[in-house]
Amino acid sequence: MSDLYAEVILPLPLHDAFTYQVPGHLESDIAEGKRVVVQFGQKKLYSALVTALSSKKPENIDVKKIYEVLDEQPVVLSKNIKLWRWIAKYYCCTLGDVFKAALPGGLKLESKSKVFAVDDGTEAELTEKEQLLLQQIGSENSTVDELQKKLRNDFSYPVLKSLFKKNCIQIEEKINARYKPKTETFVKLHPEIENKKILNNKLNDLQRAKKQQALLLHFCEKINAFKKDVLLSVSKKELLDGTGFTPAILKELVKKKLVIQFQKQVSRIEEETENSQVSINLLNKHQEKALTEIQASFEKKQVTLIHGITASGKTEIYIHLIDEILKSGKQALYLVPEIALTTQIVRRLKNVFGKKVGIYHSKLSSQERVEIWDKVLQFQTKPENGYQVILGARSAIFMPFSKLGLVIVDEEHENSFKQFDPAPRYNARDMAVILGLQNNAKVLLGSATPSFETYYNAVNGKYGLVNLKKRHTNVELPETLVADVKKAYKRRQMHSVLSPELYELMQGAAEKNEQSILFQNRRGYSPFVECFTCGWIPKCKNCDVSLTYHKYKKRLTCHYCGYSQQMPDSCDNCGSNEIKTRGFGTEKIEDELKPLFPNASLARMDLDTARSKTALEKIIQNLESRKTDILIGTQMVTKGLDFEHVSVVGILNADNLLNFPDFRAHERAFQLILQVSGRAGRKNNRGKVVIQTSQPEHPLLNLIISQDYTSVFKAQMEERKLFRYPPFFRLIKIVVKHKNQQTVDRAAIQLKQFLEKNNKLILLGPEYPLVSRIQLWYQKEIWIKFDKSLHLDNTKDFIIDCVSKTKHLPDNSNCVINIDVDPM
Ligand code: ADP
Ligand code: ZN
Ligand code: ZN
Repeated sequence: MSDLYAEVILPLPLHDAFTYQVPGHLESDIAEGKRVVVQFGQKKLYSALVTALSSKKPENIDVKKIYEVLDEQPVVLSKNIKLWRWIAKYYCCTLGDVFKAALPGGLKLESKSKVFAVDDGTEAELTEKEQLLLQQIGSENSTVDELQKKLRNDFSYPVLKSLFKKNCIQIEEKINARYKPKTETFVKLHPEIENKKILNNKLNDLQRAKKQQALLLHFCEKINAFKKDVLLSVSKKELLDGTGFTPAILKELVKKKLVIQFQKQVSRIEEETENSQVSINLLNKHQEKALTEIQASFEKKQVTLIHGITASGKTEIYIHLIDEILKSGKQALYLVPEIALTTQIVRRLKNVFGKKVGIYHSKLSSQERVEIWDKVLQFQTKPENGYQVILGARSAIFMPFSKLGLVIVDEEHENSFKQFDPAPRYNARDMAVILGLQNNAKVLLGSATPSFETYYNAVNGKYGLVNLKKRHTNVELPETLVADVKKAYKRRQMHSVLSPELYELMQGAAEKNEQSILFQNRRGYSPFVECFTCGWIPKCKNCDVSLTYHKYKKRLTCHYCGYSQQMPDSCDNCGSNEIKTRGFGTEKIEDELKPLFPNASLARMDLDTARSKTALEKIIQNLESRKTDILIGTQMVTKGLDFEHVSVVGILNADNLLNFPDFRAHERAFQLILQVSGRAGRKNNRGKVVIQTSQPEHPLLNLIISQDYTSVFKAQMEERKLFRYPPFFRLIKIVVKHKNQQTVDRAAIQLKQFLEKNNKLILLGPEYPLVSRIQLWYQKEIWIKFDKSLHLDNTKDFIIDCVSKTKHLPDNSNCVINIDVDPM
């Protein structure tokens, strides 16, 4: 009997790690960070992750055995799991939750993962068992769970894993309708050509078609037809490129039933041929100074903030720092809020660092994500094959770095670093700081508009602070003016949604062949429609929101749950057929501006037009090549775009930014307006920004015009201190959800009563959030504020306990209660 025990994490929302016995024959295979197959609960098998090994038998527990070890090499390192533990504790979730967020789908084999075949396996040299399982899986989505139930003893995790490795199946957490695996045309011999003899005969038959014969020969060489028994395929591109053979000749071979063409899934990760193609830009003197200051700050502080205005060239500084770290043999992580919007940065990094760079994000297939994961792991053993730099969105903090030396968080103020749902509700910016501490890696946070929490840490000396106040080409920051739309509407001076100020500037830009960007935070045609007679407004049947009209699709759509219905011809309430659109979405603005700028080419950038990566790239390309004159967009246009010829930026409606009911509203409005303004006049001439509002006297607007970051910061700090908000107080949000409204109301009050037992906690609510019902679930929030001097872990334990007590009260078992630490 073996005396080895393994502690494992299961991909389930369970708090504890579980102990299993390692049978003798697996002792040499098992290791920390490898996946194993274990039984949990009734009869179900799970793939779990080994986090520790020990020879001490756990007391009083009836330990089960590990069935199988899935990996030859660990898929995570124990130093990576340290961060998982930290996150589970800090964000009040389970290690299972973190495990699920950390590993890419293809490595998890969760019971709810969807599995489907993407290849018939004829070329993959499958074993009998693999073939059998592949047939069973088929092209329909079934979950791992369903397969287990259906196949019973024929189901096997190792076989599932090897099918995945051989590219025959996809494993996804949820099937993303938008995602299409990339395929290419491949060519293989016709199945009737069973052996070399037939092949030779066929070649002879082509005596009089020399070109076809030559191509067939070339093809046979490519696939090694004369040496090997198993005949593989070759991609059409590889077969024809640079050979002089045309597709037409290949077509003839297909016609004569000599070869067949088929589609095969290929990786999107292009192999870079050379190591690095472009040398690094020299820094200007301001950047040089900032770089030196950052390096000096790194000597003293773990974390440094670079506060550099828009277009000051922060990216260039990051590249210099990364270059240095790479030369010292360490790895770098470069986090960006949304990878889709960073095609420009991707290009710059790839140009400089070539195949050392891996890009990690959610639009990749599960195979591709695993491929990148593996290459980060490989860096430990074979640095020349592995990735030394990862550019990624928030989940990249979980990558299996072995020698991390530098973490950069660009646009650190962005709230997309925060995961809202599901747990862990972590902020990748804050976890980057922890990651840095755990790995003794330096952390650089960068922004033109740092979050006030970060800036507070910087001015208080917790973080280092470096300023960069000059744009790369020394152009001044844009001139900003406020346009009073209320007045303009009254005087009938508006040109559709454009104030006279903005209209004139845009006309001027168009004449000089310069570009304009307009920001409107609503997509679709109109945010709601209304019956002109009785005021009826169509609402979502699942959520407490009005439906947005999309003119192109002629549909009303819910932006919270995706529900959509046809635009009604008449009112549901009174039958009148005068249904009017209300308010302006990006789609309507595009429509209305066309006649105002008949010679300009307009484009729109929002979730509807930029669904896919290629669509987005096209929009960006058209701006770069100046095919687009006027770009209208949502939040997307505020983020990091770098174009030389944009001279005018318009914020069409600043009112809803200024009046948003949140303690961070002013910080956000300021950041957003400054960021979008920063898209103007980046290279040549000073740009112009127009902020349209009906409250031109709003005090924040004056500070925005003067671009006075520190004044806004100071004013807000006063308020936050007074009203006891972060960074002075800690904040935890609890959301109670249930499909029944009364249950939510009751449970929320019960929870509050438990929480009130600790009189050090300041409680707000329970209250309905702005949208009180989403996807049929009602929700109520309680906000908890408490002093930083309070013991954090104990306070959290108390809160967790209150939540659990509430759930255990009669009729509350179906309540979902989420704890959100540091909510955004
Ligand atoms: P930020 O991220 O600070 O807003 P970027 O890094 O995007 O600014 O830089 C703005 C523009 O200036 C980019 O087009 C960039 O290529 C250019 N740039 C910045 N620094 C340099 C440099 N040292 N040499 C050449 N071009 C630079
Ligand atoms: Zn009506
Ligand atoms: Zn809805």
